[in-house]
Amino acid sequence: MQFFLDVILPIPVERLFTYSITEEEAKFLKKGMRVAVPFGKAKIYTALAYSVHNNKPTAYEAKEIEAILDEAPVVTQQQLEHWQWISSYYMCTLGEVVRSGLPSGLLLESETLILPKQIENLEDTLLDDDEFLVVEALSNQSSLQIKDLIAILGKKTVLPVIQRLVAKDIVSLKEEIREKYSPKTSKYVKLNAAYEAEEKLEAVLTQLSRAPKQSKAILSYFQLFSETKKPIKESQLEKEGNVSKAVIRALVDKGIFDFYHVEEDRVSFGDKEKDIAAVTLNDLQQNALNTIIDTFNEHKISLLYGVTASGKTEVYLKLIATAIAKGQQVLYLLPEIALTTQLINRLKKYFGNKVAVYHSKYNSNERVEVWNNVLNQKDSAQVVIGARSALYLPFSNLGLLVIDEEHETSFKQFDPAPRYHARDAGIVLAQLHKADCLLGSATPSLESYFNAIKGKYGLAKIERRFGNVFMPTIELVDIKEATRKKRMNGHFSERLIKAMTEALEEKEQIILFQNRRGFAPIVECTTCGHAMQCPNCDVSLTYHQRRGQMRCHYCGYHVLQPKTCEACGNTTLDTKGFGTEQIEQELKAIFPSHNTARMDLDTTRGKHGYAKLIAAFENKEIDILVGTQMITKGLDFRNVGLVGIMNADTLLNFPDYRAHEKSFQLMVQVAGRAGRTHKRGNVLIQTYNPYHQILQQVSTYDYEKMFAEQVYEREQFNYPPAIRIVKITLKDRDYNKLNEAAEWFAASLRNSIRGQVLGPEYPAVARIRNEYLKNIIVKFPKKGSVHATKKSIKRIQQSFDAISRYRSVKVVYNVDHI
Ligand code: ADP
Ligand code: ZN
Repeated sequence: MQFFLDVILPIPVERLFTYSITEEEAKFLKKGMRVAVPFGKAKIYTALAYSVHNNKPTAYEAKEIEAILDEAPVVTQQQLEHWQWISSYYMCTLGEVVRSGLPSGLLLESETLILPKQIENLEDTLLDDDEFLVVEALSNQSSLQIKDLIAILGKKTVLPVIQRLVAKDIVSLKEEIREKYSPKTSKYVKLNAAYEAEEKLEAVLTQLSRAPKQSKAILSYFQLFSETKKPIKESQLEKEGNVSKAVIRALVDKGIFDFYHVEEDRVSFGDKEKDIAAVTLNDLQQNALNTIIDTFNEHKISLLYGVTASGKTEVYLKLIATAIAKGQQVLYLLPEIALTTQLINRLKKYFGNKVAVYHSKYNSNERVEVWNNVLNQKDSAQVVIGARSALYLPFSNLGLLVIDEEHETSFKQFDPAPRYHARDAGIVLAQLHKADCLLGSATPSLESYFNAIKGKYGLAKIERRFGNVFMPTIELVDIKEATRKKRMNGHFSERLIKAMTEALEEKEQIILFQNRRGFAPIVECTTCGHAMQCPNCDVSLTYHQRRGQMRCHYCGYHVLQPKTCEACGNTTLDTKGFGTEQIEQELKAIFPSHNTARMDLDTTRGKHGYAKLIAAFENKEIDILVGTQMITKGLDFRNVGLVGIMNADTLLNFPDYRAHEKSFQLMVQVAGRAGRTHKRGNVLIQTYNPYHQILQQVSTYDYEKMFAEQVYEREQFNYPPAIRIVKITLKDRDYNKLNEAAEWFAASLRNSIRGQVLGPEYPAVARIRNEYLKNIIVKFPKKGSVHATKKSIKRIQQSFDAISRYRSVKVVYNVDHI
């Protein structure tokens, strides 16, 4: 009988692929183990074993697998079930989910470069024949690819050889492509077993009487050991024992000391824990907690709607403590940018070494380590705090999922596929594990609040700030008049400058919000009206004054700022609109004696840029901080007395059916950074349109009214949460082909699915990186299977893909959140 294995390849193909395996392999292989398989021309992929069977594929000759990479599954059944849900719900392939779900350290590919690390003066006895051949090849060549190794070794099972060489630290794999996991180790020193007996040791010391440094090193070692009663690190003996590396080395050469290596958990923290039981919740928090626990019994999902600084985090901490006590795993999910050291430290304070962080800023080794710790249900990863990709971790005993700032749009992944929403995928994950799920926000998304008042989720509220601090006052400042009468100082109204002066006199800090980076979004010629455009995208270039550049915020294209108009040659260039850079410049002129700083994508690019700015602001090295929406994300500053929103109108006028909901959330969240601890804070919102309903609702914190009006509008115009929606984007570099293809796609949709098909239409930016875009929006009927409709759409795509003329056209789906 023949045996076959179906695998999931980490690439965008719809189907599983079948490989032939031996009977022995068939017995050994389990779903969720990794195998290396050949695919396409001389490519090797890491794939996931899915099922073993005896059915020979009919369409193609099954190839043999290259190697089995695991002893036990690295992906669990529940994970695969969840990943399958993601793939079908978000209309992508399972392979795309695997690619985004597995940390890159667990994916090894044929494009991987194998580089020499320590190949000189290796003892041949350390290497087996295959390893020797690889090392020899690497002494002549600076790098090798997997296909080179297949040729050199004359066989296909090369991955195990690579893995052995990596483990021995002889070669490394190039990180940008795929890096193999290697645990971080520490080097320790111990006395060779032969010298453990006391008389032997004395003999050695006498023998070393002419090498005083070495005998002193031995004595230092004993002294450290008797003090700490712990294994001694080489670095420790060096520093605390005051012994040089050379002396230690000499003793190892003489066989008196031995080196050994111990794996170290690289994502570990200090150990001074505080008892969470010692934190007393106030009545409002306690009530909310009780409600949540009650509703968990009924719904398993609950929404905590607590105003900014009401102490939601402390409520989460109590729930986390309960889950830990039950021995369950906990996942605390946050938008990437809100995942600050501030919050991590707050968790560490109570749960110390049980807290692991899973984060895209961490390198692949660190992520694999957390992965393995979760897989093996280690204490060190009992509580995982992470951004959306932490959803992919191999939990087997998940008891609680907290999704903080659940309204945040950055929970949605836009590129690449899977284009999933981490809150929604998280809810499904929790249900799969029968775990409790808590959504938290000071400005809940319409969807979640809608579900809560419909009784689908439990609902708990905290309506006042912790410590009875008042919510900040919000004042709307009409700048229409002032602008007309030319009474603005740059973009600052007299009212704002006065409030700022007062706050600074009180030694309070100030946050200014402007949701645009750069100096000005448009540079226009006042003679001919020409504005500089990006050559690759259909947008105008943004002026960045400090660098003297015009930059495209879509593709990164940039040129030096011209002195004259490209079109007419006149020097009458003028800027329109304004960004954070311009505000910062004006600030320096208005408040020259105060420290100002700017927080946006341009100033936080470096690895620690963001954290440094937050720390400097916390330490009061900065008086006034100007920023984009980065400054809104759940930060807990203690001394901010005033928040200024420079211009509310650009937010409100954004062409998106969610613009009003988002503006409300954004402004209330920015306002929430003011006056969090003692004194009531102030917020000033500059606008041309102070009677706008959303601004009125923001200024009175009237979430309920905003909610009611927005839900009503969504129902009138058929948008979520009233109905379901999918946006299909077609992309191509050929303008005519794209138009034709989009018409074809839309016509087919109209023919075969129920519900409304809108478009095709160009989006606001109709060309990005030289690709033209067109959107088709499908609004699903209120009744009927969402799943079936998605399947019909996919079927249309299959026919579409079969048309050779459209082969180059990319089709992208965004589900629910468009
Ligand atoms: P939220 O998450 O709702 O914005 P936080 O949890 O950040 O609010 O709480 C705001 C501030 O109040 C924090 O500095 C926090 O330490 C403090 N705080 C909240 N609850 C308590 C409590 N029960 N005991 C002591 N301090 C608390
Ligand atoms: Zn561009």
